[in-house]
Amino acid sequence: MINKAGILALVVCLFLGILSPVSVQAHSGLTILDSSVQAEFPSKLSFNLSAQSDVNITDIRLHYTVDRLSFAQVTSEVYIDFVPSPTVDAQWTWDMRKTGGLPPESSVDYWWTVEDADGNRVETAPLQLQFDDLRYPWHSLTEGEVTIYWYEGDNSFAQEIMAAAQQALARLADDTGAYLERPARLYIYASAQDVQGAMIYPQEWTGGVAFTRYAAIAIGIAPDKLDWGKRAIAHELTHLVIHQMTLNPYSGLPTWLDEGLAMHTEGLIAPQFIAYLSKAVAENSLISVRSLSSPFSAYAGEATLAYAQSCSLVEFLIANYGQGKMLELLNTFRQGSGYDAALQKVYGFDMDGLDTLWRDYITEQYQTPEATTTAVHPALVGTLAALATALLLWLALVAESWAWRRSW
Ligand SMILES: [Zn+2]
Repeated sequence: MINKAGILALVVCLFLGILSPVSVQAHSGLTILDSSVQAEFPSKLSFNLSAQSDVNITDIRLHYTVDRLSFAQVTSEVYIDFVPSPTVDAQWTWDMRKTGGLPPESSVDYWWTVEDADGNRVETAPLQLQFDDLRYPWHSLTEGEVTIYWYEGDNSFAQEIMAAAQQALARLADDTGAYLERPARLYIYASAQDVQGAMIYPQEWTGGVAFTRYAAIAIGIAPDKLDWGKRAIAHELTHLVIHQMTLNPYSGLPTWLDEGLAMHTEGLIAPQFIAYLSKAVAENSLISVRSLSSPFSAYAGEATLAYAQSCSLVEFLIANYGQGKMLELLNTFRQGSGYDAALQKVYGFDMDGLDTLWRDYITEQYQTPEATTTAVHPALVGTLAALATALLLWLALVAESWAWRRSW
């Protein structure tokens, strides 16, 4: 289903609704005269309230909740600073530069409570606003649990991205049993520069941002960078799924599992990652599974090897122990399990045990000369012909890996 520019109209309607004055009269003389919100995506929401009473107004609070994945419903309460008076114009600005940003179309419910010196109290009815990026005329395309929003490129551009997203979800479900528990929103900006305009503290190298708690991704994909974009979408969508299904207040995932699953879902591993693995096996310079459980190195070469090993570790676990065990592992992490304990419970070995088994597996793959060219990586042979293209793709992917920021 494609709704051309429907979002913009909806948003305008919503904002008109929000900006309408509200008049709430208590039995006393305490009255809300006006309430409004001004949005400046992506950095600010300014809430305004006018109220009057027969006596001094002494207490004004703004309450709001944001629709996001969390362990419990959280309502924020803001005590407004003002001079007590029978007539008050109060304002409070939510400065996202201090709190971190929200993805486009985030829903915020808010209401006010006001009290006067006689103890009269008024609570306004909750209103909902959507914090939108109105700089672009968004189109949308929905299939299953995924909605793609884009503004440059024709329908076939969006359909190709949608096909890649669905294929990634199907692959992830087949191999791990994991699926989107909450609908995902993908905002496809037309360039890195455009997507940086949707971010609070953009860096020149930032290609996008994944808001895992909001099930949203914002990414810059020019229509002529579609191949890179499809891989990036598969990768980041996997992070959304995995974070949704393992979210708990106690413990995160080991980095190798999170990144390995994301790379595995992209499809065929790019040749340069294989080259890094092969070299590390030959030089006995593989990184330990224990080290790969922490955030990866910022150094290009070591980070590339870390991604390559992560992908291989995940493939080792899926190929040898199957989908059921991977699902059990993810569910164990959801319960807040530690890294060693989760592996021990599901597979019967800890991180060091996995390290030993995986080293045997990878060494056997890469030290048999004919295996590296035909038996183990038959697809690589086909890929070699297009090596120049693949290299470019790999460079783009590596750039993506570092250029990506994850936001909570
Ligand atoms: Zn990643």
